[in-house]
Amino acid sequence: MSPALVLVAVLALAGWPTCDAYPVPADGIAFWKMVTSLGASIYGQPSELTGELLKKYSPDSGVNPEELGEYTQGDILFTNKGAAGSALARNGLKAPSARWPGAVVPFEISYGFPQADRQMILNAMEEYHKHTCIRFVPRRGSDVDYLYITNGNTGCWSSVGRVGGRQEVNLQTPGCLTKIGTPMHELMHAMGFMHEQNRWERDDYVTINWQHIQSGRNNNFDKADASMTDGQGVNYDYRSVMHYSSKAFSRDGSDTITARAYRGELGQRDGFSDGDIKKLQSMYKCVGGKTTLQD
Ligand SMILES: [Zn+2]
Repeated sequence: MSPALVLVAVLALAGWPTCDAYPVPADGIAFWKMVTSLGASIYGQPSELTGELLKKYSPDSGVNPEELGEYTQGDILFTNKGAAGSALARNGLKAPSARWPGAVVPFEISYGFPQADRQMILNAMEEYHKHTCIRFVPRRGSDVDYLYITNGNTGCWSSVGRVGGRQEVNLQTPGCLTKIGTPMHELMHAMGFMHEQNRWERDDYVTINWQHIQSGRNNNFDKADASMTDGQGVNYDYRSVMHYSSKAFSRDGSDTITARAYRGELGQRDGFSDGDIKKLQSMYKCVGGKTTLQD
C-alpha cells in the first residue's frame, strides 16, 4: 500500500476533521449570559398601536420616530428567536456569532415602499459602503440569513445583530423615512449595536432626568452590564446616530437626557458620527476597505 493510501485509511478510521470541532468562543458565553439576563421582553410581535402613534409623527416634535415605539428601548424587537440566539446587549454585541460573516449582509426590500423611500433605504446602505467594509447585497436564493426590510404600520424597529433566518427591519412610511439617519440607525442595530445612552458608563456623560420619563418607561434607560458589551474602543459619543434625543420618552415635553459636557443636539439623525464609523469598522474588522472578520 502506498503511503498516500495509508494516510487516507488512517484518516478514515480516525474520522475526518469537521467544522463541528471548533470550540465555542469565550464571547459565546457572554452572548448567552446576555440573552438570559434580558428576559423575554425583547421578544414579541409588531404593534399596530405603535403604528398609530407613528402616523401622527411630526419631525417638529423634537423626538425621533424610533423613540415612539412600545418595544424595548423604543425600537428593539425580536420577532424571530433565530438560530444564533437572537440576543442583545446595550451597545456592541461581543458575540461573533451575532455578526454578519464576512461583513456581508444579504437583504430584500419589500415592494410596498414608494420609490423615494426605497431610494432612501438604498442611500442609507450606501453610507455603510462609503465608510466601512460592510456590504449590503441583494439576497440570492442560497442566502439563509438575511434582512427583510418592510413598511408595516408598526413603527420603526429592528432586532440586534444577526438573528438567523429571515430577519425583519420595519420602517413605517413616511415617519421612519423622514431622515436618512433613521434607516441608518435601524441597520446599525441589525449590525449588532445598541443605543449609545445605555452604555454602562453613560452617567459620566449624561444625566437622566427620571422625573420626566413617561410612567412605565424607566427600563428604556437601563444601563448595560459592562461585562457583556463593548464600546469597540470608542469613547461615549454624543453625536452617535444611536443616541436618543434629549426628549425621548418624555412625559411632559421636558428633557429626559441632559448632556454633561456637550452643547450640541442629542439624537441627530443626519448621518454617522466619526465614532459610529470607527465602531462599525472595529466590530467588522475593516482593514483597507475589506473585512478581516472570519466568523
Ligand atoms: Zn434604536
